[in-house]
Amino acid sequence: MKSISQEDYIKRIYKMQSGNKSSVASGSLAIELGVSKAAVTDMTRKLAKEGLINYQSYKGSFLTRKGERKALDIIRRHRLWELFLVEALNLNWAEVHDEAENLEHYTSEFLINRIDKYLNFPEFDPHGDPIPDKNGKLPKTRKRIQLSKTKSGKDFVVCRVDDKNAGLVDYLGKVGIGIGVKLKIIERLEFDNSVMLKIKKKEIVLSEKIAEKVFVSELKDE
Ligand SMILES: [Zn+2]
Repeated sequence: MKSISQEDYIKRIYKMQSGNKSSVASGSLAIELGVSKAAVTDMTRKLAKEGLINYQSYKGSFLTRKGERKALDIIRRHRLWELFLVEALNLNWAEVHDEAENLEHYTSEFLINRIDKYLNFPEFDPHGDPIPDKNGKLPKTRKRIQLSKTKSGKDFVVCRVDDKNAGLVDYLGKVGIGIGVKLKIIERLEFDNSVMLKIKKKEIVLSEKIAEKVFVSELKDE
């Protein structure tokens, strides 16, 4: 069974928590991380001892302020590295997530602040995820919905794609989907919930599974 670092645990709890702000059950944490429940119990004890999480056996784990701050720090390193690899080293937006997964654990505060400055204090990574600043503050984001939940006939702008699967990100790029790209929903097929949309003059169809991984904001005509 693979071993997962303390930082990965914290990051995962943060991501599972945000949205519903509730405790994360050890069972679902084990599934998400692909480790045994015993490993989660072990790590939970360690993190609680360091004051990074609160743990209640019948509820699960919840990050303390200190834990949340730490999570935001790891996320900051990850997202700044992604952008740096794209901007400075010309890597493809599909390649950078896996690289950043490693780099995020080995970067000093000094170096990440220099990268932040080099990039002119950016607010979003190449996939549209917000970058916490050095005080852990996240930039404001517009309301985002999954492309799979949009209504026909409306105009949207792409503001985020799920970056975990390099193959998917690569595919999205190939069909013309990128951050800031405008599109119009032509139709959602009732049969399988796939989405037919138009980018510039080109019509494309995305499966529901893919459309769930793309997030958009509605463009309202002023
Ligand atoms: Zn990203």
